[in-house]
Amino acid sequence: MTDNTGFAVAIDGPVGVGKSSAAKRLAGDLGMLYIDTGAMYRAVALYNMRRGTDKKDAEAVAASLSDIEIAFTPANGILLNGEDVSADIRSQAIADYTSMIAAYEPVRAKLTQQQRRLAENGHVIMDGRDIASQVLPWAQVKIYLDADPRIRAERRLRELQAKGQPAEYARVWEETLIRDERDKNRVHAPLVRTDDAIYIDTSHMDLDEMVAEITRYVKGRLYV
Ligand code: C5P
Repeated sequence: MTDNTGFAVAIDGPVGVGKSSAAKRLAGDLGMLYIDTGAMYRAVALYNMRRGTDKKDAEAVAASLSDIEIAFTPANGILLNGEDVSADIRSQAIADYTSMIAAYEPVRAKLTQQQRRLAENGHVIMDGRDIASQVLPWAQVKIYLDADPRIRAERRLRELQAKGQPAEYARVWEETLIRDERDKNRVHAPLVRTDDAIYIDTSHMDLDEMVAEITRYVKGRLYV
């Protein structure tokens, strides 16, 4: 399917499972490039939200894609048409909008193509929902992270609070369930656990434990 010479770790899982924190730390520890695919979907959402596009208007969202250019800064920040929107994409409103527009096939086609290019020849850790199943099916290490939904909602609440964003548990809980439902049941590239992915339940793990566990698998593939 591809003649790339890369080494990739694909990390998938539902909202609030600790993917990004673990992937970022792992990439730093192992000297690999971290690619946050959720941030790319969020950037497309932000562009459309700012223009007042109805999130249910699939055609309008698709038409916007030719005006959108996404890139990463060396420090894992995200650029939308050259503007650093790393902070702007983290609100709850954006999260909800994103999970709607991420279901549209043209949006997925554009971002999937860019994600594959980013991974072609390097050493990357990529996290998202469809990395093992669609974006990098060739990845040498595939990890599926999972956790009890209540614990994921609590983690997400703490994450939002740490960023100084107003958040309350009931709303975050509801958002978690809605996004889970949308991400798992959409027609195009739903969140799935592939047969060849290593399943890790992180409900009772802290970040250090999560990173140590994933590192074991990655090192096994890198050096054996
Ligand atoms: O991971 P994060 O919460 O930033 O992702 C935001 C949303 O983007 C997810 O709820 C999902 O709908 C979408 N997404 C996706 N495929 C990916 C990454 C994110 O559909 N690979």
